[in-house]
Amino acid sequence: MNARLAVFAAMLLASLATTLASCSSSAHRVDEPADLIVVNARVTTQDPSRPAASAFAVKNGEFVAVGSDAEVERWRGPDTKRIDAGGRRAIPGLVDSHLHVVRGGRFYNLELRWDGVDSLERGLAMIREQAARTPKDQWVRVIGGWSPYQFRERRMPTPAELHAAAPNTPTLVMFLYSRAFLNEAGVRALGLGPNSPTPRGARYEFVEGGAILHAEPSPALLYGTIGKLPQLSAEDQLDSTRRFLRELNRFGLTSAIDAGGGGHAYPDDYRALRELASQPGLPLRISSYLFAQKQGEELADFERWTRVETLDVDLAAEREHGYVIEGAGENLVWSAGDFENFLAPRPELGREMESELAAVTRVLASKRWPIRIHATYDESISRVLDVFEPIFRASGYDARWVIDHAETISERNIARIRALGGAVAVQNRMAFAGEVFAERYGREAAASAPPLRKLLDAGVPLGAGTDATRVSSYNPWLAIAWLVTGRTVGGTQLASPENRLSREEALSLYTLGSAWISGEERIKGRIAPGQHADFALLDRDYFSVAEEQIASIEAVLTVTGGDVVHAAGPFDGLAPQLGPVRPAWSPVARFGGFARATQSSSTSASTAATGR
Ligand SMILES: [Zn+2]
Repeated sequence: MNARLAVFAAMLLASLATTLASCSSSAHRVDEPADLIVVNARVTTQDPSRPAASAFAVKNGEFVAVGSDAEVERWRGPDTKRIDAGGRRAIPGLVDSHLHVVRGGRFYNLELRWDGVDSLERGLAMIREQAARTPKDQWVRVIGGWSPYQFRERRMPTPAELHAAAPNTPTLVMFLYSRAFLNEAGVRALGLGPNSPTPRGARYEFVEGGAILHAEPSPALLYGTIGKLPQLSAEDQLDSTRRFLRELNRFGLTSAIDAGGGGHAYPDDYRALRELASQPGLPLRISSYLFAQKQGEELADFERWTRVETLDVDLAAEREHGYVIEGAGENLVWSAGDFENFLAPRPELGREMESELAAVTRVLASKRWPIRIHATYDESISRVLDVFEPIFRASGYDARWVIDHAETISERNIARIRALGGAVAVQNRMAFAGEVFAERYGREAAASAPPLRKLLDAGVPLGAGTDATRVSSYNPWLAIAWLVTGRTVGGTQLASPENRLSREEALSLYTLGSAWISGEERIKGRIAPGQHADFALLDRDYFSVAEEQIASIEAVLTVTGGDVVHAAGPFDGLAPQLGPVRPAWSPVARFGGFARATQSSSTSASTAATGR
């Protein structure tokens, strides 16, 4: 049976089951039992026809029935896996609509993550420990995903502290795309000195034997420095990518829309994902946007890609919509990149932006390629829309397109996006950079950055996400907590009351809203018959825990397309085992990924060792 027929048959069975349920209360069994049933759950379905349920059944990777335990038990056959959720909350699988997931996977095993670490003292101790287990030719690197305000000390490290922690191992610590710190060994390894050249909009500051790299505001120096460090072998990249996707599953994420990334070239740097997608059991669905890497070659890139690439072809062997090329962005032309370094003044885009962006937009619009474009500030959005409007109207462009970030977008530009059929993808970058933003632009501006309520009220399709792994952490619960509380990871209350969302709204953006961005809102984001069987059981009830606890929620069971991809606590052992981390000295083998606040380092080591 082909997939489409299977879906149709499953839906037919589901409606048959409903009919049976309505004519008889006796325990009729369905003819074709489910692969998996989950009972005794508190299910948030996001299906308006049945918002709440306690059970659901999955067959051939789709939900086939949702209802009471008794209704769903009828789907149980001799080979059906049955999961008793123990009264836990079940939600549709989360969808990050802006995650640099392919690049994140390529680097995951190389990086020491400070995500979730609550003191600089602990962060430096991790560097000390990691330096001792890092081979001579390798680096210790902390590449974003943290904010100084999450630390008890509420400050960044100094080059001298990095030297004390890692006297002989080159070490790079990056804060968002704003600033980076090198220890003495790092300066030596890169052969840097006062006369070292820097790209425009960047500088070195040599202090304490080490150096501070300033993006003012272009991150080119940061991209360039990361690019000089040794990379993983192809085999290790494969393990790194698989492990990163499984780390995302840990938080209930089942899909991500990839926004490309600087220093991450298509197609060469996508090999590990392609390889993983060719194997069974891809744990996360990925829709990928192609990102132009080299200034001056953007138009040639998009002309070539629109010629040789086919959109929406499933490149995954055994996962529907598992890995597809979705469109172009978030970088269309470098001249349109308004970098969000709030430690520096807002960059004014160059005069060449309009003509360069127009040339690329014409190509993409003529091929009806979906488009997404990075734009932090309203000033940039105005100029981008000036380019888009006439081209989209003249070409009758009807593909999906997205403005990414939009922290300072005005009501006027929200209305323009709405009129032109576009969407906005928001992320919790302010949870990491909010204090710095407020210092430069004031608390009032920070209170509506971005203006979530106006965006929702305007009816513009809205996706949610993180923009991980560098300008924020990849943990979706930090983003959901930020949507609900309006507070930074440092606890600063930034968003005004009207820009704080209800828990229902936040979850809806993180599922259905994000699914719109990849054109999948009809098959993703609900626990309902005919939808992809992507869901998570949570360790605590998102809808009733105290607000302060939302950020630390994790999944105890995550299922993608009917396959268990993460299992912890009572469900431990249900997910496929991962082998040992490659290479063995990887920080992930010692520290795992996102730090649990209450977790001692010995627990995290044993978690990593058992491969969860
Ligand atoms: Zn961006």
